[in-house]
Amino acid sequence: MQIEFKKVGFNKKEITIERNSLQLHGVLDRQDKELVKFTGELTGSLELECSRCGLDFTKKIKEPIRLKFSDGIYRGFDDEADVIEFYEGKIDFDSIIDSEEESIKAGYNYCNHCEQQDEGENYGST
Ligand SMILES: [Zn+2]
Repeated sequence: MQIEFKKVGFNKKEITIERNSLQLHGVLDRQDKELVKFTGELTGSLELECSRCGLDFTKKIKEPIRLKFSDGIYRGFDDEADVIEFYEGKIDFDSIIDSEEESIKAGYNYCNHCEQQDEGENYGST
């Protein structure tokens, strides 16, 4: 789903986007003419391969998502939100969900079995 940037008003707007097995839910909050803040959560489930034993498993996803959408180049600095610059006047939420999915898949994911084992072995040592 795409949302036209200029149609995001100054009233907070709640959105929910479903894509495959994931759902992005949150609030769009315009800061100024060129910047819209998004605070939400990605939920759902993903089929993943365990980084340890290689078995496929389904992982429940519950990730907080904080984004800022900048119409053009963002000149500020932000360490609490990822800034997404766009240029065609539209925010593409499908590609945001896709890239979150990719980053989850690219990380370390452990099936329930391996995760429980890890808790015992690695407790207190990071
Ligand atoms: Zn495993």
